[in-house]
Amino acid sequence: MESELQVVNPATEEVIASVPTATRRDVEEAVARAHGAQARWSALAPAERARLLRRFATVVDEHREELAWLEVREAGHPVTNARWEAGNVRDLLDYCAGGVERLNGAQIPVAGGVDLTFAEPLGVVAVIAPWNFPMPVAAWGSAPALAAGNAVILKPAEQTPLTALRLAGLAREAELPEGLFQVLPGEGPVAGAALVEHPGVAKVVFTGSTAVGREIMARCAGTVKRVTLELGGKSPNIVFADADLERAAATAPGAFLDNTGQDCCARSRILVQRTAYDRFLELLEPAVRAVSVGDPAQPATAMGPLISRAQRDRVSGFVPADAPVLIRGTAPEGPGFWYPATVLEGRPGEPATEQEVFGPVAVVLPFEDEAEAVTLANATPYGLAASLWTRDTARALRVSRAVRAGNLSVNSHSAVRYATPFGGYQQSGLGRELGPDALAAFTETKNVFISTEEQQ
Ligand code: ADP
Repeated sequence: MESELQVVNPATEEVIASVPTATRRDVEEAVARAHGAQARWSALAPAERARLLRRFATVVDEHREELAWLEVREAGHPVTNARWEAGNVRDLLDYCAGGVERLNGAQIPVAGGVDLTFAEPLGVVAVIAPWNFPMPVAAWGSAPALAAGNAVILKPAEQTPLTALRLAGLAREAELPEGLFQVLPGEGPVAGAALVEHPGVAKVVFTGSTAVGREIMARCAGTVKRVTLELGGKSPNIVFADADLERAAATAPGAFLDNTGQDCCARSRILVQRTAYDRFLELLEPAVRAVSVGDPAQPATAMGPLISRAQRDRVSGFVPADAPVLIRGTAPEGPGFWYPATVLEGRPGEPATEQEVFGPVAVVLPFEDEAEAVTLANATPYGLAASLWTRDTARALRVSRAVRAGNLSVNSHSAVRYATPFGGYQQSGLGRELGPDALAAFTETKNVFISTEEQQ
C-alpha cells in the first residue's frame, strides 16, 4: 500500500496536506519517461529551448504569490523571505535560459586536422533537495540542468513537497515537454536511494546534511555517477576591532537567525577581536532582542519557527540548562516549533561551538590578532562561507584568501546570488552551483578530431 507524507505547518502544527510517496517502482517509471523527454528536449533548436525556459520563468513570475504562500505554510518562512525565494527561482530560470545558446565548445589547434569540443548533456539528472530552502535549492539544481539539455527528476524533502510539486505543474503550463521535469515526493532512503542507485541517472545534485551527503557520494561510486554536494557549515563571522562595530553588530543577528538558523551558510561562530569584544556584545544584545519573531504571515516578521518538533529537540540539545548564555531573545508560546535566538559564550570542545546546530544559536569567541582569527576560522572540517569586518582593505583581502571557505563576504553577509558561484571547501561540499559556469556542471565534454588529410 502506498504511504503518504503529512505536510505540517511548523507555525501552527496543523496538517495542511498529505502527499503520496514515490516507491522504487515509481522511480523506475520516472527515469524511463525522463529518458524519452530528454531525447526530445535536446533535439530542439537551442533558441527554442531557451524560449521555453524563459516562458517557464514568466509562468513562475505570474505565480510568485502562490509559491511564496506555499513556502510560508509548509516551511514556516516569513513571507518577505518566501517572496524573495519565488523571485529567485524566476531569476535563475531567466539567467540559465540565457546560457542555452552560449554553451560553446572550443576549437583547439592541432596538427593534421581540426579539433572541436562539444558540451553534451549528461542525460537524466536527479536533484535531491532539503527542507530548509525547498524552493530555491530545487531550482539551483534543476534550472541549469534543464538549460544544458538534461531531464530532471526532483525529490523534495519529506517535510516540504508542495512548492516542488507546484513548480512541476508550472513547467507543464509553460509547455516544457511532458516528463522533462518530474517531481517525486518520497522518503530519502526509498525514493532518494533508488535515484542514487539507478544506472539510468547520470548525476545526483544533493543538498542536505554532511552525513547523508557522504553516504550518497559513496553510493554514487557504484555507477560512477557525477555528483554535486552542498552540505553543512559552521561559518565564522570575523569582526576586527577597526571595523564599523555598529554595523557589524546590527547585521550579525540576521547572519545567524535568517531562516531560524536553518541555513548551511549561517554565520554561527562570531569571532571578535578582544579589544572590541565587550563593546561588540553591548551592541549585539539589543540587535538580537530587536529581531521580530512570530507569525510568518506578517510582513514585519523576521524569524519564524523551526521546521519540526524533532529539529527543535535537536537544537535545544545544544543548549543544556547550564549553557553559558550571553543573550537570549524571545519566542511565542503555544503551538508551533518555536525557539528563541540564543547567543552563547564559545567554548572549544563543546558541541555548540564545534558542530552545526541548524537553529538560531550562535557562539562568540575572542581572538587576539589576525593570525589567530584565521586559525580559529579554519578550525572546522567545514568550509562553506565566512564574513569579515574591517576597514583595512589589504587585511580584508589577506584574510579572504587565507580562510578555507567557498563564499567570503567583506563588510556584509551576502546572500547567495544566482550569478555568482556557490559551494563549499572541505566537508561542506563538492562542486559549485550557480554563477557563469552553472550549466557546465551538467555537461560532458566531447572531443572530436576531424582529419584534413586528402582522402584517396
Ligand atoms: P536534514 O538532515 O537536513 O533533514 P537530510 O540530509 O537528511 O537533511 O535530507 C536531505 C534530503 O536527502 C531529503 O530530500 C532527504 O529525503 C534525502 N535523503 C535522506 N537520506 C537519503 C538517502 N539515504 N538517499 C538519498 N536521499 C536521502
